[in-house]
Amino acid sequence: MTSRIYYTDPYCRRFDAVVTKAFAHEGRPAVLLDRTAFYPTSGGQPFDVGRLGTIDVIDAIEVDDDVAHVLSAPLTSGAAVSGEIDWARRFDHMQQHTGQHVLSAAFDRLFDNRTVSFHMGAELSTIDLAKEMTWEQMARAEDEANRIICENREVAIRFVSPEEASTLPLRKEPARGGVLRLIDVKDFDLSACGGTHVARTGAIGAILVPAVEKFKGGVRVTFVCGGRALRVFRTLRESVAGSVRALSVLPHELPGAIERMQAEAKDLRRAIKKFQESLASQEGIRLAGEAGTAGGVVVEALDGWDANGLKTIASAITARTSAVVALFSISSPIAVVIARSADRALDASAVLRALTARFGGRGGGRGELAQGGGLAGSLAEICDAARELLTSD
Ligand SMILES: [Zn+2]
Repeated sequence: MTSRIYYTDPYCRRFDAVVTKAFAHEGRPAVLLDRTAFYPTSGGQPFDVGRLGTIDVIDAIEVDDDVAHVLSAPLTSGAAVSGEIDWARRFDHMQQHTGQHVLSAAFDRLFDNRTVSFHMGAELSTIDLAKEMTWEQMARAEDEANRIICENREVAIRFVSPEEASTLPLRKEPARGGVLRLIDVKDFDLSACGGTHVARTGAIGAILVPAVEKFKGGVRVTFVCGGRALRVFRTLRESVAGSVRALSVLPHELPGAIERMQAEAKDLRRAIKKFQESLASQEGIRLAGEAGTAGGVVVEALDGWDANGLKTIASAITARTSAVVALFSISSPIAVVIARSADRALDASAVLRALTARFGGRGGGRGELAQGGGLAGSLAEICDAARELLTSD
């Protein structure tokens, strides 16, 4: 069984050890050591990385009460090695993990809201709570957790027997038997935990809750501690500064300014739609006027209209005069509307089918009106083909 240095000395970053077993783990070289400072992924906390001599430790895994070190190159059994863990990564994990104890205890003490699970991500960490909470309660728990940080309380490691543990006010029933390792945040939280923690709460730096969402009948609380809290603040500061510059308002005026812009944009969209409809029917009236001299056949490629605009124009033509109509958009992919007035016998959907069979795209409709899109090819050729189909009617 590997002796775990971090159980009693989480601040140990360098150590000497002997390789007790060399093997392959999922095709990569791996070793067990007689003692290690490397933390293997467990209890919501990710693994340590670092080096054994000149070889990189790229993963650390819990295997049958041992810590398997997955390596960039093989080591032989019996070799003496000096290990070093990536301290920046580990200390960040210690800050997040101790912060989790303090924040979970604050939820528990203030609102009797139990922590169901904890996950530490690369940027953000989460605590899942059994019950829902208001934002006001969340802020109170955040205040309480940061008060404990400011008081720089001792975070002690204690080992107790199951009998002794049963007499102690543990925040959570221990998940395992045998000798228990307890993390004791002085006069605030007592939990059984195998993870790594800072020695005093002041080293957590700060605890921030950037987001809360409903989750499985309770809530999922996203939190950050220490250096991560600073990074989250900087990201927020940059996006707020950018938004404030773009909208020329003060930070606290941003939500109102965005709501006003959204309302204005909605009004504008409505006004534009009205203008477009009016323009489309004007265009329809103009083309209906020309239809008479063209024998009631209108084939046009029109700039600036989408499929709906083309349809409005086609309807305006066929409502006013006896005509068969094929309208195309100029922009690619080409949209098409085929229409006829009530007195004409043309099957608009058959014309559309003939066009899409030759130029691609798709669409559908009825005998008097069909529309489609996605045609590809030369517009002049498409218009010629449409004219031929319309005049053969
Ligand atoms: Zn812990």
